[in-house]
Parts: sequence; C-alpha cells; structure tokens
Amino acid sequence: MLPSRAAVVVAGGGPAGFMAAVAAAEAGRGDVLLLEATPEPLHKVRISGGGRCNVTHACWDPAELVGNYPRGARALRGPFSRFACGDAVAWFDAHGLELVEEADGRLFPRSNRSQSVIETLRRAAAAAGVRLCTGAALQRAEVRSGGGFGLEVRTGAGVRVRLDCAQLVLATGSHPSGRQLAASLGHTLVPPVPSLFTLALEAPALTELAGVVMDPVALELLPGRSQLEHTAGSSERPGSERAGSERFRQRGPVLITHWGLSGPACLRLTAFAARALKEQGYRGLLQVDWSGGRSQADLDQLFGRLRCEQARRQLATARPWPELSRRLWWHLLEEQGLERQLRWADLPARGQQGLITALRASRYPVRGRGPFGEEFVTAGGVNLGEVNLATMESRQQTGLYLVGELLDVDGVTGGFNFQHCWSSGWLAGQGLAAETS
Ligand SMILES: Cc1cc2nc3c(=O)[nH]c(=O)nc-3n(C[C@H](O)[C@H](O)[C@H](O)COP(=O)(O)OP(=O)(O)OC[C@H]3O[C@@H](n4cnc5c(N)ncnc54)[C@H](O)[C@@H]3O)c2cc1C
Repeated sequence: MLPSRAAVVVAGGGPAGFMAAVAAAEAGRGDVLLLEATPEPLHKVRISGGGRCNVTHACWDPAELVGNYPRGARALRGPFSRFACGDAVAWFDAHGLELVEEADGRLFPRSNRSQSVIETLRRAAAAAGVRLCTGAALQRAEVRSGGGFGLEVRTGAGVRVRLDCAQLVLATGSHPSGRQLAASLGHTLVPPVPSLFTLALEAPALTELAGVVMDPVALELLPGRSQLEHTAGSSERPGSERAGSERFRQRGPVLITHWGLSGPACLRLTAFAARALKEQGYRGLLQVDWSGGRSQADLDQLFGRLRCEQARRQLATARPWPELSRRLWWHLLEEQGLERQLRWADLPARGQQGLITALRASRYPVRGRGPFGEEFVTAGGVNLGEVNLATMESRQQTGLYLVGELLDVDGVTGGFNFQHCWSSGWLAGQGLAAETS
C-alpha cells in the first residue's frame, strides 16, 4: 500500500536509487519511500557482468577514474573526490559484501553472483528503514507552491495514487519516463544514444573466425567512411584522409564474432565514438592492428629471421609468434593469396609485405551496430550543468535530485557505470539528509 505522504520519494529501484535511499536514511533522513515500476528491483544488477555483477573497478585515483567516462569525465572529478571506487568497496564491506579484484582490475562479489549484491542492497535498505514499493511507477510530478512535490503514481493493478513528498529523487536509469519527468520539472536533455555496443563489419571471411580472441589489438575507427571507398578486408595503408574526420583509437582484447568485433577494446571504442557513429548512421572504417604493436621494422626483422631459421617449415605450421591465433594467421595467408604449404624460404617479397601490412593495418568497413554489448548503456540524459554535482540536487528545482544513468554520464566497460551510480546515489543521500538537518 502506498502512503499519501513521504518525506523523500526515490523513483527507480536500480543501483542508483537504492544507494540514494539507503545513504539518505543512514545519514538520518527518515521516511524514505523507494518506488520501483516493475515487480523486480535491481533487475540490471541481476543480469550485469554475465550474472556476476562487476560492482566497481580497482581504480583509486579520481583523476585517472574520470578517464573512463566518455560523457561526464572532467565534471566527475569533484564527485569522485568525495566518493569513488575505494569508498564503494568500503561501503559494501561495511554492509557485509566482500569484493574481490580480478587481474584486469574489475571487482566482483566473492560469491561471483550478482544476487549477493542485490541481497546486500535490499538488506541495507530494510535495515535503514527505507520502504520499498514495487509495481509503482511515478507518472507525474508537479511542484507545490509551498515547496515539495505532488506525485501521481500508477500501481501494478493500474490504480492511480496521489502522494506528496518534500524531496524527490529521480533514479529512473535510461527509461524514457524519467527523462520526461526531468523535462517536466525544467531540465534539458542531451538526446540519448546507445553506447558500449559491438561492431558489425562487412568482412565475411573474418567473421568466419568467430570465437577467436586476440590481445592486445589496436583499433582505429573513422566514423562515416563509406564502404564504397574501400574494399572489405583490404590491407592497404590509410590513404588520403577526409579533412576534419574524427578518429577514435583503443587498444586491448577483442573477440571476433559472427557479425564482426566485440571484446573490451571494441566496447571502449564504441563508447567514445557513440555520438560520432550515430551521426554517421553507424557506418565507418575500422583499421585493426593485429600485430600487438610491432613496428614495420620489427616485423621486417622478424620475417627475415623466420625465412632463415624456419626456412624449410610451412607458413601454416610456423606462425610469426605464438600468441597470433592460428586461425587468424591462416585467414591472413588466404587473404594474401598465399598457399599454407608454402615454405618460409619461398615466401615472395610481395607476399611478405602484404602479410606485414595486413598484420599492422587490416581495414574493414563498419556496416552497423552488433547486438548489445555486455554492458550496454545509454549516453545522453539530463544536462550535467543543471545539477549541483556536490549534492546531486537540481539547479532548476529545489528539492529535486537526479542520479545514475538518467544523467548525461556513461562509463566504459569494467564496473564504471555502477561506480557512477554508487557515487551519485551516495552524494544525493548526503544532500537529502543535509538539507533538513
Ligand atoms: C546486460 C547489462 C550488463 C551490465 N553489466 C554491468 C556491469 O557489470 N558493471 C557496470 O558497471 N555496469 C553494467 N551495466 C550498466 C548498468 O547496469 C547501468 O549503468 C546501471 O544499472 C544504471 O543504474 P540506474 O540505477 O541509473 O538505472 P537502472 O539500473 O536502469 O534502474 C532504474 C530503475 O528505475 C525503474 N524505473 C524507471 N522508470 C520508473 C518510474 N517512472 N517510476 C518508478 N521506477 C521507474 C526501472 O524499472 C529500473 O528498475 C550493465 C548493463 C546491462 C544492460
């Protein structure tokens, strides 16, 4: 049953909403009501990180941390100097959840189950006295002349209920209803576009290698380059570049998929290029350096050595270096028209040059977005300039707070999106409590 009044209403039972509600209640703000539109709060937490929930990242310096946010970056320095990854680790530890760091810096619950994170947040909310109401969608919010807000909430049974509150937190993630509510309360919105997605490539021979992982790979993306300008899989060096075209570069692990490319480096690339790609209709040209950063001179030397030392061995059985996937190497040989059975001693100079260029700069036309990445998020949202980032209170409307993905902030893969939820939620909690103390 919904009450007719609450001191604080938090709309949205995701990670940002839970953190805001719990932090406010723990900081002394009583009578906090948390509304969740669906029957299942924290749904994205449950499915996150492949069911393991990548809670945050072992990145302890706020100046370094902000580099993981294509949207937000500099503005987040202040908030992260008050509550960042180390604070999130300590917060979860104090609430009974131990996080464990993996080799790449990602932090997961020791249980390796996102359910542990959900239970921790729900337990913390109950212990702090937060009332959770599921199947309750905030539909309308109007400012009362004497202060506070009049709300209209639709329950699961389709009943419309009115309630009043002194302070309102919007924590509705990327759901359009939250953006509409923010706009109705005076906010401007940066149009939403998808971020953190995989790339569909026009490269049928490459996609036959689905399942191959390479690390590290250097990617360079030129959004907007039409596929007509280049041949699929062509490995020529970049020619004349269109004036003013933007380039995006990333380096790290990639996974070849049935449709193109995925993996952390690809997701990071699309996060930073999210707007440019959208503007270009998800078309572009991707240049891939499979060589692990080896220079032309390194490769000339290496191939020269192989010709002598492996002279009698076939190209197929003696790869240039062991980490180069056998399937990828065979694909590159085929692409250059070289027989696998050819011996290293018989590799023609032109074939060698073609292989080296293909290893350093294979080029593939981008033909669209692939299916969602592991951490698909929405870029865009409430303009950050309209929010006091010390407290997350709106600069447009006293008593209104905005947190999480609803804001024009998004991070790359690795736990950075949840970290922004913990930080913005915690700061809002302090702000809500301070306003009334
Ligand atoms: C498959 C997947 C995996 C991911 N894995 C990771 C990961 O491992 N690590 C990481 O950092 N990030 C991950 N992310 C991103 C992360 O899930 C989001 O950044 C994060 O959930 C945003 O939190 P939020 O609280 O702002 O919004 P949400 O999690 O979207 O929560 C908003 C809540 O508000 C509710 N709501 C919406 N409108 C209303 C309304 N009008 N009234 C009441 N309730 C409403 C929604 O039902 C929802 O429950 C992943 C995302 C996806 C899709």
